[in-house]
Amino acid sequence: EEQSEKFKFQAEVNKLMNIIINSLYSKKEIFLRELISNASDALDKIRFLALTNPSLLGEGDQANLDIRIMIDKVNKYIHIIDRGVGMTKDELVKNLGTIAQSGTKEFIKKVTESNDPKNSSNLIGQFGVGFYSLFLVADNVIVTSKSNEDDQYIWTSTSENEFSIVKDPKGNTLGRGTKISMHIKDDSLEFLNQDTIKSLVKKYSQFINFPISMYVSHQEDAPEEETPIDAKPVDETEVKVEEEETTDEQEEEKSLIDDAPKPAEKKKIDVFDWEIVNDHKPLWVRSPKEITEEEYNEFYKTLSKGTENPLAHSHFVTEGDTEFRSIIYIPNTPPANLFDPEAIIDGLKLFVRRVFITDSMKDLVPSWLRFLQGIIDSDDLPLNVSREILQQHKILKKIKDTLVKKFIKLVQDLSNNEDKTVYQNFYKKYGNNLKFGVIEETSNTHNKNRLIKLLMFPSSKDEFTTFENYVSRMKEGQEQIYFISGKSKETLKSSPLIEQALKRGYEVIYMVDPIDEYLIPQITTYNNKKLTNLAREGVKFEDAVADEEQEKQVAEEYKPLTDFLQKQLGKKVEKVVISKILADSPCVLVTNQWGVTANMERIMKAQSF
Ligand code: ADP
Ligand code: MG
Repeated sequence: EEQSEKFKFQAEVNKLMNIIINSLYSKKEIFLRELISNASDALDKIRFLALTNPSLLGEGDQANLDIRIMIDKVNKYIHIIDRGVGMTKDELVKNLGTIAQSGTKEFIKKVTESNDPKNSSNLIGQFGVGFYSLFLVADNVIVTSKSNEDDQYIWTSTSENEFSIVKDPKGNTLGRGTKISMHIKDDSLEFLNQDTIKSLVKKYSQFINFPISMYVSHQEDAPEEETPIDAKPVDETEVKVEEEETTDEQEEEKSLIDDAPKPAEKKKIDVFDWEIVNDHKPLWVRSPKEITEEEYNEFYKTLSKGTENPLAHSHFVTEGDTEFRSIIYIPNTPPANLFDPEAIIDGLKLFVRRVFITDSMKDLVPSWLRFLQGIIDSDDLPLNVSREILQQHKILKKIKDTLVKKFIKLVQDLSNNEDKTVYQNFYKKYGNNLKFGVIEETSNTHNKNRLIKLLMFPSSKDEFTTFENYVSRMKEGQEQIYFISGKSKETLKSSPLIEQALKRGYEVIYMVDPIDEYLIPQITTYNNKKLTNLAREGVKFEDAVADEEQEKQVAEEYKPLTDFLQKQLGKKVEKVVISKILADSPCVLVTNQWGVTANMERIMKAQSF
């Protein structure tokens, strides 16, 4: 007899379970999405390992990478079985007893602060605390797991405080993989209904890239009260799986069923059968013409483990020397830590010939596109090499270049939308990323110029002004694009620096983002029109009649004043001159042609350079 060992859940796990149970009570159904997503991850892992060592997959049915769901109405159990990597005894203790992610405390704080269950379920997916969500519907959980590295172990838990682990006395019946058996609570019995589960699989997991089969009854469900309370599991002979010749596959199915409680018998003529309930053909392999908006949205939700629709997507296939398929999505809500260079943001998933490789490939997109979600599936990359070697592959550079081009195209499409608010909405969220793009794409002038066209700024005439809009509104004879940078539109609007420009009827662009100071040196001209900073000395308006004689005269006349001021201010200023940019204000501080502007100084101070 194997001795069962008892373990206490890590304190964070307890907290987490309480949060999940209290905040997600109305979204209990997500447990299924989380468990299927874990099964799919485990299958991805074994498939990846098997690329370099095919024998790891095992023989016969073990090599079938799939997910199976069985409902046992009589005993009130749901079983979810996968043939993924499985877990060793130590992994069971670690993975299902502690929380590895360092962000968990932050997560716990966030959820405690937010009372919105929709938001909480989004957070739960993102923070990877999915497994514990099964306690939303189950009061008794049995996880049986077999890894290639260890014998088969059983993990059980009935409470929020502890779990126990025992070596399976039945031996290694699973071959390889994990079986999760949940006893369903009385308030969650609706999940014992096969149609409910089927529709949930369709809703949440239709794009899982492995077949998900359900052991379903083709018999119309008899009314509940007809089910005898003391219904006994039926004899094998009475379950009509298939009377005729049984194939290998069906033999295996039976052996799987042996291990689980027997399907309930209502009438002896019940016929159960495995039925594939998801559409496991990868979405990106299908033709874009045949895919509905709804399907793209649902696929995105599967990828992002969230409930929100994306802001936009692009699905494309490239041909020629690099062949790959891709669906990229712009999330509707940008990641919170988008501009924290240290933050890890789950990004694009890389597949090679339909096999999932990694979702943390460095440099798959430039850092200004870190927010992109989606998949890339390459036919050209080698399958049987490590991720590290793959990282060096020259094809990745081509993929990256193509992704940038496709992204820019997608944004151009958004900007061409007749409904201007569509692009404005995108721009409010990702405008700074485009600016970073301009700064980072210095070596690719084509990309850089296309990005510059997409930039928008507030101006004295419009809240969202592109350079194109500005140029189209230019005054007769105007050759320069006037701008000023500063802390906010409000402070700039009342700046003496823009008085003359406005008085003369020139539109002034307000650059109010800190990043604009880094952007400005990248854009010296647009369409051969020079960008002129009104905060620098020497601004010459096109309509000002140059009268050098008069200028000299005025400078001479006021020399005593400028000399006096120069003396008073001493080293605080470089020089004092008669201004041509003021209208009503008596004086203003400007920067010379090459110096650091006051705004840049403010930003550098704030960032403590
Ligand atoms: P996440 O999936 O984000 O890592 P979960 O709470 O959903 O977080 O799962 C915790 C861990 O338990 C997983 O990372 C994985 O190591 C392990 N695990 C869960 N389910 C399975 C499974 N079906 N097969 C193998 N390992 C699993
Ligand atoms: Mg998970």
